[in-house]
Amino acid sequence: MNTWMDIVRELEDAAAHPRQAVLRAMRETGRNAVGCFPIYAPEEIVYAAGLLPVGMWGGPTRGRMADKYLQTFCCSVMRANTEQALRDDYNMLSAVILTTFCDTLKCVSENWKSAAPQLGLIPMVYPQNRKSASGKQFLREELMRVSDELERVTGCRATSESLEESVDVYDDWRAAMQEFTALLPNHPRVFDAKRRHLILKSVFFMDKKTHAERIKYVSAQLRRLSAESEPRKRVILSGLLCEPVEILDIITENGMQVVADDLAQESRQFRTVAPRAGDALNRMVTRIALQDGCTFLYDESKSRGAMLVDMVRREKADGVIFCQLKFCDPDEFDYPILKEELAAARIPLLHIEIEQQMDSPEQIRTRVQSFAEMLG
Ligand code: SF4
Repeated sequence: MNTWMDIVRELEDAAAHPRQAVLRAMRETGRNAVGCFPIYAPEEIVYAAGLLPVGMWGGPTRGRMADKYLQTFCCSVMRANTEQALRDDYNMLSAVILTTFCDTLKCVSENWKSAAPQLGLIPMVYPQNRKSASGKQFLREELMRVSDELERVTGCRATSESLEESVDVYDDWRAAMQEFTALLPNHPRVFDAKRRHLILKSVFFMDKKTHAERIKYVSAQLRRLSAESEPRKRVILSGLLCEPVEILDIITENGMQVVADDLAQESRQFRTVAPRAGDALNRMVTRIALQDGCTFLYDESKSRGAMLVDMVRREKADGVIFCQLKFCDPDEFDYPILKEELAAARIPLLHIEIEQQMDSPEQIRTRVQSFAEMLG
């Protein structure tokens, strides 16, 4: 019988060893794997086709092979993904879905046709006006096109029934994650910044249903525990991701806990659940229409700063750490606006520039240390 801490370690291990986790999930579920680039790849369609969606979030991979396809000023996530594709690390994938939110992703969608033709790349476009009727119709048709492409590449097809089931699985998982992350701030010693991140990331390499079961079990155990009394400074992370994990250790070492996040790799995956109205495609389209405060989804009201201010107040946070992935243009455009809005609300903000393949996070250590002292 596994204890809840065994499950926590299993989830951490999946995030720390993604390839092994994916191969294990393929064995256990009998599903072939499909790579999903960040962010908003329509995983529900992949899952409905009887396939296993796998997150492609770069990593510490270094090398020079990607230089042939990407300039040195492309973000480290795409450089790592391309290097891994060229090293054939993705040989367990039957297809790859790539959404084209930024210039780098658009380049990758073309370059991978020659860099990794064996991976069956399926590009997908999101509409700029995702809330209008015509934008919603466009997205619906794009989702159907991706489904057809997926069938062409893998031979596996999502039916309307399997898609309904799949959207239910995903919404159930999203609800479970919302509940789980709401419990974590009471347990900062057990769920420090790194463990929180690894558990949230682990889903990209596991079967969604299995992950939801594990998370619900851990949540049930956590509800029985009393809150830890160790006071820590409460911070919120914003950005695409917060890696390498040494940065999270530095946050913990400086007496802070992550009480919530606005990271594309973490809570943005599950913070919005669409109402149960219409068919499965309608629920997918509506979820994207409702998801606000995300740099990748066009938002003329630029609501991310206001959303962060609300989040800080709701979570009683002491400050925000903005994790700027080097060369990620969409986040760079958002930062000056939200910086002003947080300053107007007198919310302390730390901006750190990160790369997944950083040699040393020591410079970041000094900045995090000063921020912690300022909060203290
Ligand atoms: S620049 Fe940003 S949005 Fe574009 S691929 Fe890199 S991380 Fe993603």
